[in-house]
Amino acid sequence: MKVYLDGQLVEEADAKISVLDHGLLYGDGIFEGIRIYDSNIFRLDEHLERFEYSAKAILLKMPWTREEISEAVCATCRANGLKDGYIRLVATRGKGDLGLSPWLCPVPSLIVIADKIKLYPPEHYEKGLAIVTVPTRRMNPAALSPAIKSLNYLNNILAKIEAQQFGALEAIMLNDQGMVAECTGDNVFIVHKGKIYTPSAQQGALKGITRDTIFDIAADLGLPIAEHDLTRYDIWNADECFLTGTGAEVIPVVKLDGREIGSGQPGPIFKQVLEAFRIRVRQEGTRL
Ligand code: PMP
Repeated sequence: MKVYLDGQLVEEADAKISVLDHGLLYGDGIFEGIRIYDSNIFRLDEHLERFEYSAKAILLKMPWTREEISEAVCATCRANGLKDGYIRLVATRGKGDLGLSPWLCPVPSLIVIADKIKLYPPEHYEKGLAIVTVPTRRMNPAALSPAIKSLNYLNNILAKIEAQQFGALEAIMLNDQGMVAECTGDNVFIVHKGKIYTPSAQQGALKGITRDTIFDIAADLGLPIAEHDLTRYDIWNADECFLTGTGAEVIPVVKLDGREIGSGQPGPIFKQVLEAFRIRVRQEGTRL
């Protein structure tokens, strides 16, 4: 596999980063996960925009233009013959000293990895996931905004570990007020009495690009959709529940905390949305 690192496409074994890179030492950096479907990079521009917003939020001055980053992404897919898969875009603060100061890291690094990803075993896309609410709360925005896609994912990793300790593949994360925020790498949607609801960014949800796509799909299909504060109770008593994310795509949830959701099967609105999603991802995007 060829990896893009700082202007060059090199073999993965030769793609080396300093042990003094603050991305490694402190999680000081940002990333995006992007999908490519049938040689179309899905909503690349939106991903690059969010990447720029994350960089700005952590005062990381990126010396690359959006076009240069876009070209790096496309070149990495081409070099690997990747037409369907997953792209990881990373910018690290770069090499510094052992202190925290980012100002001693003059040159950030840009990395692109183009590969495949499988978040959940394939059978769960048909039968749905049984998930749990975990004790670890989503990061308080006053400490570190969950809107920033930083390399600091320990909060989500701890939640994932807890889910696995409870025998589940995914976790519902609450915010510090006890409201539903999101999952460890996915946004959460419920369907209740024919309406689709998802928590807002104020409640700790990342403004997911797949989440945005669901709003567009719902508008197309004439399905009512809105941001709404959700508790665990709302999910237990929903008719349907599903998760969205670039890695996960759209996956049904049929149980939360041992409570069956709706019929206990993937619901009709989920199926309608999924069908539209599968069509849409092949139509929109940046052609390789
Ligand atoms: N929440 C978190 C914490 C995530 O890491 C992701 C994946 N980027 C998402 C939600 C879903 O966002 P998107 O649809 O843009 O991949």
